[in-house]
Amino acid sequence: MRLLKGLEVHDRPASGAKKGRMFIDGVWEEGTGKEWLRVVSPSTGEDVGWLPLGSRSDALRAVASAKTNARKLASMSVWQRAALCQSIAAEIDRRSEEIAGLLCLEQGKPITEARGEVAGAAVAFRNAGEQIKWLESASFPVEDPAKRAISILQPKGVFGVITPWNFPVALPSIYYLGPGIATGNAMVWTPAPTTSLCAMLLVECMSAAGVPEGTIHLVTGEGPVVGDVLVTSPDTQGIAFTGSSETGKVIATRSTGKAQLLELGGNGPTIVLDDADLDRAANCIVKGALANAGQICTATERVLVDARVHDALVERIVEAAAQIKPMTATDPASRLGALNNEENARKVDTHLAEAVRLGGRILMGGRRAEGMPTKLYYEPTVIVDVPPQCALHCDETFGPVIPVLRFNSDEELYALAAASPMGLSAALFTRDVSRAFRHAERIRCGIVNVNEASNYWETHIPAGGAAGTASGTGRTGGRHTLLEMSDLKTITFHVEP
Ligand code: NAD
Repeated sequence: MRLLKGLEVHDRPASGAKKGRMFIDGVWEEGTGKEWLRVVSPSTGEDVGWLPLGSRSDALRAVASAKTNARKLASMSVWQRAALCQSIAAEIDRRSEEIAGLLCLEQGKPITEARGEVAGAAVAFRNAGEQIKWLESASFPVEDPAKRAISILQPKGVFGVITPWNFPVALPSIYYLGPGIATGNAMVWTPAPTTSLCAMLLVECMSAAGVPEGTIHLVTGEGPVVGDVLVTSPDTQGIAFTGSSETGKVIATRSTGKAQLLELGGNGPTIVLDDADLDRAANCIVKGALANAGQICTATERVLVDARVHDALVERIVEAAAQIKPMTATDPASRLGALNNEENARKVDTHLAEAVRLGGRILMGGRRAEGMPTKLYYEPTVIVDVPPQCALHCDETFGPVIPVLRFNSDEELYALAAASPMGLSAALFTRDVSRAFRHAERIRCGIVNVNEASNYWETHIPAGGAAGTASGTGRTGGRHTLLEMSDLKTITFHVEP
């Protein structure tokens, strides 16, 4: 028996156990892989179900069916696809408690956050269905009096969709599935193995709402096996991937020539200037670091604070963080649930240990929480005097950890901000609008929130990594994703005078 992200892989499921299924060519099936993942809840330690780990041939069958059936969605009118998006949203709403319950068990997040995530998935389909109706293309004035030129938006064809485990219901819906249906693309979706059972429920909703057979497929399994087929097949025209910067680099290379929408890791700084409202800054920092136990690409991963207000800010952060205790995720009072998997929890352990070895001082937390149903609960952690060269500062930690570093000048601030190769999001606290603009324009990232937590986002606002950073390419959010998933085609007419 081997482990995958800390979960056991077996050659068959336990007898009588609840089994997950794939959705290929309009049929729910177990696939042809030879292994099963025993999905154990990070929240409670209970068995959630068994997931079939698909084979390359399962993914190839799904891609072939998507290619054959792609015209079914593409040939629907925009109004028809918009109505389909609304029906999917209604189906998600109808099953929201069931999906949220499974999400809480499978992913590890507090049930209140899980409910919010499921509501967000329904909104995603609604928004995609609304926005596509008003997405216009253009006609172009031309030099030649006998010519007319227009552009039209068309689906790209078949999209391979590969997603992570941190927001397994809302993120695929917002980033790809809603916009994909709205724009008329057929899709083959490979979700992260540790959260694929709730993906099944989402695809059930899509199918029940009437998504044409063969235009949405769910292939469960390991990324380098089934995901790689989507990435490399000549029959997928686009790759929509969210995940780590490391995997993103592999996928970007292996899918060269296809349309790429890549949303990767983040390690954005939260910057606190000396004139900031420190109470607000501290509360936003704690909120941004502890939501989803810190497993958010835009989480508050590091705090850079003007040395003059360092101590006053840290005191407030510790006070605010101390109000939040790890609590079993299924408890409605829980505000800090479990990390999703052991591999991620080990990364948090390792980053903290290195920072301490190099001189960081832990003021609170710094270890797994005791007395919890699983070992995946982490104490909220505040660490100061973090050495700038350590992974806790330069890399993505993905845990409920608040590392604090101080700066003495703007130049020092910019050097610290640029210490990470990533460039996704940042937050900035100041009362001076001119300083806010100056700094926001200078920092290399896709989003800057001023006087708000780094993870604040509304799903129609453009989001993505700054060019040349390790945070990805392209923009998600509202019409931006619709455009990323569409091909702009120019048609020129010769008109006899
Ligand atoms: P990951 O890169 O390990 O895996 C992501 C997905 O890719 C999974 O479905 C995995 O099975 C698949 N995969 C892995 N190797 C593959 C390969 N060689 N070919 C094809 N598919 C492959 O990431 P993760 O640990 O699941 O997710 C956490 C990461 O996602 C974090 O880095 C986080 O910042 C990032 N993320 C980014 C955003 C954003 O909007 N930028 C949003 C959420 C999460």
